[in-house]
Amino acid sequence: MGRIPYWNISYGLLIDAFALPAVALLVYGLYAHWKKIQHGKERVKPNLPPLPGKIGPVYIHALITKGILGSKIYRKIFTGIAHGFVFWGMVFLAIGTGLVMLNIYLKVPVFEGGFNRWFMSFFLDLAGLVALGGLIFLFMRRLFGPERLRQPKERLGFVPQICLLGFVIASGFYIEALRIAANGPDPYSFVGNFLAGFFPMGNNGLHRVLWWTHGLMAMAFIAYIPFSPMVHIALAPTNAALANPKPGTRMGVIDFSSFDDETAEEVPTLGCAKLTDFTRKRLLDYDSCLWCGRCHEVCPAASTGKSLSPKGVMVTLAEKLHSGGFDDEGLIDEVGMDAIFACTTCTACMEACPVCINQPKTILKFRQNLVMEQSRIPELMGKANNSLEQRQHPFFGTGSGPKDWCKGLDVPIFEKGETEYLLWIGCAPTYEERSQKIAQAMVEILQKANISFGILEESRCTGDPAKQMGNEFLFREIALQNVEEFSELGVKDIITLCPHCYNSFSRHYPPLGGEYNVIPHSVFLNELLEKGKIKIDKKNQSICYHDPCYLGRRNGFYDAPRAVLGKAGNCIEMQRHKNNSFCCGGGGGNYWAEEEGTRINRNRAKEAFETSADIVATACPFCLAMLTDGMKSVTDEQKVFDIAEIINVAMS
Ligand code: SF4
Ligand code: SF4
Repeated sequence: MGRIPYWNISYGLLIDAFALPAVALLVYGLYAHWKKIQHGKERVKPNLPPLPGKIGPVYIHALITKGILGSKIYRKIFTGIAHGFVFWGMVFLAIGTGLVMLNIYLKVPVFEGGFNRWFMSFFLDLAGLVALGGLIFLFMRRLFGPERLRQPKERLGFVPQICLLGFVIASGFYIEALRIAANGPDPYSFVGNFLAGFFPMGNNGLHRVLWWTHGLMAMAFIAYIPFSPMVHIALAPTNAALANPKPGTRMGVIDFSSFDDETAEEVPTLGCAKLTDFTRKRLLDYDSCLWCGRCHEVCPAASTGKSLSPKGVMVTLAEKLHSGGFDDEGLIDEVGMDAIFACTTCTACMEACPVCINQPKTILKFRQNLVMEQSRIPELMGKANNSLEQRQHPFFGTGSGPKDWCKGLDVPIFEKGETEYLLWIGCAPTYEERSQKIAQAMVEILQKANISFGILEESRCTGDPAKQMGNEFLFREIALQNVEEFSELGVKDIITLCPHCYNSFSRHYPPLGGEYNVIPHSVFLNELLEKGKIKIDKKNQSICYHDPCYLGRRNGFYDAPRAVLGKAGNCIEMQRHKNNSFCCGGGGGNYWAEEEGTRINRNRAKEAFETSADIVATACPFCLAMLTDGMKSVTDEQKVFDIAEIINVAMS
């Protein structure tokens, strides 16, 4: 016998009446979330052309891939599959329920022919089964799951919703089984048929009770969504769609002119100290956080015993948001100054976050407030800042002068209208002894390749360390000075030796009027090799490449350095590489930090050493210095070299 909708049920349509309050509660609950988020500031529009594929503030591609398809969840494959099972299973079950309504109200013949057999019977049984399987996995994971769910704090409230949904699906199967037991087999409803075997006589009373309970529990689940962590069904896709899909964090610019406006009623806050200082997008970040701990797990600071946990920061802010502490001035101290300055700005947390939260931006906003409003900064970082302010480079106490790195070399000076590339040396290769060899090697390579290049009369910093340490004011001063000099010299193409310089020029200079074609030296070397402008001999050596965070994760350059090194030897990989790479510990001003806990550079150097590679290569002066230092804890051999040094040796 075919399926009869509402078989054995009187007044079944009443369930639709219960749907109304359930949906009303859902809407009310979501509105309450929006009211909280509204305490944030409206987003400042960046002074940049809009990205293609964006409608209003919504990035369509990110909405579909990261928001709806949840592509980032699958980085943890089992958890990803379980989420996919539950989400898509429930989507198809909801479609099935909708089709039943169409049949009842509009007599659409969904219970006839092949559609009934394959979709309404077979496919919906399959959808229910995979959704239930996914829920069982997620339930077990809540009970016995990884530490990251509990560290530093666990989010409660998932289990009741998982149980409620599990009950709705399981009761749906039993209702089907009781109907089949009473009306005869339905060969395509394979789960219903199997379970019907346990009810040979049918049981109409039990069927009615289960039917009503199933319906009411489904309504309860819907109504409870916004008041439980299950609200991520709505918040996560929204957050993914509104997050800038460009990798890494862009801090934007502060309009300091508004601080001189004497007619303004209030002086704007520098950085952020309380929730109302943040934008609505940031508050949406805190509301969307799942407390899953994926960021905690990959954070170099958290995993080496420092005070920082990016998840912990998000949890503190989420709790403040939900308790209504929008103007609580104590927030910054609750998060903790040590935690705030322990961040290496490596963006591993951003990369790992399944709901596209920008944790480093929050941390850097706190830094800006501590440094520019409160003059609170760790001692060594403070010294680096002072050095930047007074000498235009952060290497206080260096024994090197500005011209020492190029002694014995005949390095051309950039000439307006004559020179093609500006070889930007930057502060580390000028003043840090080990990094000077990068600049020397690159000069030699460019001269052998007959490239038209020149350097500035006086090397200095891009201002990146100031920006990452929270001193936006100082960064702006230095950056504007560089922009002015570049425009006087007519600079268009820049080769950088340091990924921090590349990141600054390409990401933070355009809003200040500095638009250039910037090329990291590893990419330029690859071009030279590809065009045959330089030739190297491949040696029988194994090379393991450490991805600098500012080159790889922040700017997506993974292949070019590997292509270069692959021509000089055999590349092997560390366990954590490319977008999973582990920081050297030097970013975000932490080159000038006294670290608590295990030193990050030792951790990374050990990982590199354990590959048994002959050479550890990198493409960043900070990584070079940090790994060279870290390597001392495992071997006396000199193992770490910059990509330019390796190529220069391979050319001779
Ligand atoms: S940017 Fe890196 S160091 Fe900072 S919180 Fe994220 S993972 Fe941790
Ligand atoms: S910030 Fe992202 S990765 Fe970290 S706990 Fe929240 S949802 Fe998970």
